[in-house]
Amino acid sequence: PPDREELGTHSWTLLHTMAAYYPEQPTDEQRTAARAFIDSLSKLYACTHCAEHFREEIREDPPRVESRAALSVWMCKAHNRVNSMLGKPEFECVLEKLDRRWRTGEAH
Ligand code: FAD
Repeated sequence: PPDREELGTHSWTLLHTMAAYYPEQPTDEQRTAARAFIDSLSKLYACTHCAEHFREEIREDPPRVESRAALSVWMCKAHNRVNSMLGKPEFECVLEKLDRRWRTGEAH
C-alpha cells in the first residue's frame, strides 16, 4: 500500500491549491468539474479506508463549489475533520489564512 502520510500531504497540497486558485465566479462547467473531481477522488483515493471515510464526509457535507472562498473554506473544514480524527491540530478556516498558506504565502 502507498505511504499514507506522503500521499496525504501531497493530496492536500493539490486540493487546497486547486481551491485557492478556483475562480471567484465559476461557470456551471467549472462547478461541475470541481464536484466531479472531488467525487472521483473519494472513489479512487489510493488509501481505501481514507476514501471510504471521505465519501461519507462529502455525503454529509457536499462540496461548496459556488466560489473560490466557499471551496477554500469547505476544503479546510474537510481537512480539519481528518485532523481531529488523527489528533492533529486544526487549521483556522479563514480565507485570509488559507490564502497565506496556499496562494500568496512566502514561498511564492
Ligand atoms: P497534512 O494533514 O497532510 O497537512 C499538510 C499541510 O496542510 C499542513 O502542514 C498544514 O500546513 C496544512 N493544513 C493542515 N490542516 C489544514 C486545513 N484544515 N486547511 C488547510 N490547510 C491545512 N489519514 C489517515 O490516517 N486516515 C484517514 O482517514 C485519512 N483520510 C484522508 C482523506 C483525504 C481526502 C486526504 C487527502 C488525506 C487523508 N489522510 C488520512 C491523510 C492525512 O490527512 C494526512 O495527510 C497525513 O496524516 C499526513 O499529515 P501531515 O501531518 O503531513 O499534514
